[in-house]
Amino acid sequence: MNKRNYQKELDKLIDNIKKEGRVPRLFLHSCCAPCSSYVLEYLSQYFEITVFFYNPNISLEEEYRKRVAEIRRLVAEMPFTHPVHIEEGAYDPQVFYEMAKGMEKVPEGGERCFKCYRLRMEEAAKLAEEGGYDYFTTTLSISPLKNTEKINEIGEELAEIYKVPHLPSDFKKKNGYKRSIELSHEYDLYRQNYCGCVFSKREQEEKLKQKQISEGSAL
Ligand code: SF4
Repeated sequence: MNKRNYQKELDKLIDNIKKEGRVPRLFLHSCCAPCSSYVLEYLSQYFEITVFFYNPNISLEEEYRKRVAEIRRLVAEMPFTHPVHIEEGAYDPQVFYEMAKGMEKVPEGGERCFKCYRLRMEEAAKLAEEGGYDYFTTTLSISPLKNTEKINEIGEELAEIYKVPHLPSDFKKKNGYKRSIELSHEYDLYRQNYCGCVFSKREQEEKLKQKQISEGSAL
């Protein structure tokens, strides 16, 4: 079976929007400021956007606060063609731990992550429906470490349930990931070295430790 090209699907949708001369309202789940930078630069040309920062997965609270402050600063400082608003969801890490129960040791990129995408995207879909938005989506697909097929699959399932169209995405395409790094430098954004949850933090620390050990033994 041919793999779907989500960027091409988005290109097509944007072409139609341009032809119709509309500026649809988009509810955009955001995982962090660096990932949002390119997505906002790109999509704000065509949509009026509400950035929704909902990430109960983030550990510790201090880290969470840092990431919220950065996305707020980015939205305030970046120039946009159409208005961009920001909304913060509830920060209740317990919701994440309940969801992750039994999957604490699953490596990053596995089942726990798929449930984590869903947890955050479902809240976005719900609020998009309540707010009468034209579309919802998430910034998550910009990361080369995230599963784009899963993200879009979940988005389409939620679109059925909440009756709000999901905007297809593969934001790393068109040099999106590269551009997000350039913009992060330009706006001097804080770039975390782990995905977000305590399990990914431990995994990252373990990798660093192993690297130091192997570098040490190579001397
Ligand atoms: S590694 Fe990232 S996507 Fe996976 S569960 Fe942790 S925070 Fe969520």
